[in-house]
Amino acid sequence: MFYDVIIIGAGPGGIYSAYELKKLAPQLSVAVFEAGNPLEKRRCPIDGERIKSCIKCKTCSIMSGFGGAGAFSDGKYNITNDFGGTLHEYIGKQKALELMRYVDDINLRFGGEGTKLYSTAGSKFKKLCMQNDLHLLDASVRHLGTDINYTVLENLYAHLKDSVEFHFNSPVDSVKVEKGGFEISACGVSYNCEKCVISVGRSGSKWMEKVCREIGIGTRSNRVDIGVRVELPSEVFSHLTDELYESKIVYRTEKYGDLVRTFCMNPRGAVVNENTNGIVTVNGHSYEDPAKHTQNTNFALLVSKHFSEPFKDSNGYGESIARLSNMLGGGVMVQRFGDLIRGQRSTQKRIDESFTVPTLAATPGDLSLVLPKRILDGIIEMIYALDKIAPGTANDDTLLYGVEVKFYNMEAEGSERLETKYDGLYIIGDGSGITHSLSHASASGVFVAREIAG
Ligand SMILES: Cc1cc2nc3c(=O)[nH]c(=O)nc-3n(C[C@H](O)[C@H](O)[C@H](O)COP(=O)(O)OP(=O)(O)OC[C@H]3O[C@@H](n4cnc5c(N)ncnc54)[C@H](O)[C@@H]3O)c2cc1C
Repeated sequence: MFYDVIIIGAGPGGIYSAYELKKLAPQLSVAVFEAGNPLEKRRCPIDGERIKSCIKCKTCSIMSGFGGAGAFSDGKYNITNDFGGTLHEYIGKQKALELMRYVDDINLRFGGEGTKLYSTAGSKFKKLCMQNDLHLLDASVRHLGTDINYTVLENLYAHLKDSVEFHFNSPVDSVKVEKGGFEISACGVSYNCEKCVISVGRSGSKWMEKVCREIGIGTRSNRVDIGVRVELPSEVFSHLTDELYESKIVYRTEKYGDLVRTFCMNPRGAVVNENTNGIVTVNGHSYEDPAKHTQNTNFALLVSKHFSEPFKDSNGYGESIARLSNMLGGGVMVQRFGDLIRGQRSTQKRIDESFTVPTLAATPGDLSLVLPKRILDGIIEMIYALDKIAPGTANDDTLLYGVEVKFYNMEAEGSERLETKYDGLYIIGDGSGITHSLSHASASGVFVAREIAG
């Protein structure tokens, strides 16, 4: 079977590639191969009652399927070059921002109209942060919310399904370089194409490394971010979240000079499990619909670690820490900040008595037995720093879930056109190690589609 273009992965990178290809070059035959399910069949079995924690399904519905890792996310599209990836280093800052805005327009047309665009421009919080040795990064953020994000994906699928051939539950095993194109194999069947766009995200990280090894594409080790998810009553951060929705705040620790940052803030949201290659870590999301709001706000506090010589496996380091937490907690662990500071584990009784009611059923435990001292010290310092701009952050009942790990794919060698050393083979999105966000991954998809369409 031959296609002009095969796209591997139906996350934002793959979807916006397909969208732009069909818009600019409708004559091209395009197929998308996706390891997971169509959107409507994506169901995480955790219901909070019968199944309370991750049962490690063969294909994780949170990470895989139409919509990719972002399908049940909070749908925060950050329009910025300050974080979310280094796409601008390849295609230029101006171009990267222009593509992120273009994606934002598509999202609005496909169901996101009426959602709010927040911005740090002119915010009084920039000064307040600086006065307390904290640094607020610049961004505009479109918050679709988990519900509208889902609607946008439904509408995009309806728009594409008749002109793009989708192969679901079809994990691609191999990519071979052939004369004049590529051969891929999925579920024992081979398919050929002239151009191939690989957009396999974080869940495809191990597979991506294997393919790069097999066809000789160079890779560079990337960083890993390790930390906790903080959950507290929404009132504590409401002055910030009402104006900015999400604030990306960076703090340099006094003790080690490490940078600790807030990440993925979910006002009135919920903490959720995340499964990457069988390792259960923590994440968060929130809904646009006020009826689905919770009493709490959650966000991650992360410290970046990058190993290069002689130990290069930054992701392996992060995995080992996450495994340790899975070993002690049977999954994600939760601890009250007051317990952590007093050097005692949290018990179910203390969690039940806490004024902050957890939104995720996690195992009460002791994060100091899991996180390296340097990382934990940094997180504690930052919680006290945040307490100055959002009093209540360092309350005893603030909940810390561990561990949150942000794995970054190895960065695959590619040109400023996001093309590998093979003509017509592109690696984009989080799978390329270049992007780490919905907006950057989507923008990279539009970019390569335009390259292919000419
Ligand atoms: C719970 C959660 C919340 C998040 N919230 C936000 C947020 O609010 N804002 C933000 O900017 N980012 C958020 N992110 C990150 C964001 O989802 C990713 O950055 C984005 O989805 C990356 O897009 P992608 O297309 O590169 O990869 P992905 O979305 O990971 O999609 C890759 C797809 O490829 C498929 N695949 C993998 N291997 C193969 C293979 N061998 N063959 C076929 N298919 C394969 C996978 O099944 C997957 O569907 C969140 C992530 C999670 C998990």
